[in-house]
Amino acid sequence: MSRATAVLQPGVPATVEPAGRMSFEVEAGQRLRITQPEGEQVADLISFNRDDLRELLSMHSSRAVNLTWKFTAPNVLYSNRTREMWKIEEDLTGENYCGGGYCSEHLNIARYGEAGKSAPNCQSNLEAAVRGYGMDRWNFNIDACFNIFMTVAYDADGKWEIRPPKGKPGDYMIMRALMPQIVAISNCPILFNACNNFRLKPLTVEIMK
Ligand SMILES: [Zn+2]
Repeated sequence: MSRATAVLQPGVPATVEPAGRMSFEVEAGQRLRITQPEGEQVADLISFNRDDLRELLSMHSSRAVNLTWKFTAPNVLYSNRTREMWKIEEDLTGENYCGGGYCSEHLNIARYGEAGKSAPNCQSNLEAAVRGYGMDRWNFNIDACFNIFMTVAYDADGKWEIRPPKGKPGDYMIMRALMPQIVAISNCPILFNACNNFRLKPLTVEIMK
């Protein structure tokens, strides 16, 4: 029995409901497509080497090898051991946040006060998604998270700001797995800022045939 929340059949898209989460496994060589059916929706993705859970995706390693903070096709994403984990093959939106991080209760409280208490957040979603593997939130960290379809500005005056996403309905990203992995996705539930343009929408994920 799988310890993931879903078993994806190649060629069959699965929906991650608004504010929902999903975990699944991919084999080396498989291509994963993540789609925004309605556009303007961010997917927070973390992934682990299935054979050694201490090895996980690293935004820092990926920036340092690619020498960019805006990953898109044909960038390769690296693990915390600087080994190849994913190759981005197609990216219709072409806008992803690569600084690491995800919304969490403690971050929401710091930024938005009491309203952040118990509000749905990506950290809780990701934790729930990997629980079946015996993992908890200390098995991953902000460096592991690739914020697909998210727009964050680094302005010349030093300002850092989350801005409305640019994904159009039907936009997708295709990533080829370069090692067997456990993948967890949070369909970002935040409504306190422009991340999802103040409306939560579904995502679909598909392992391509
Ligand atoms: Zn989030």
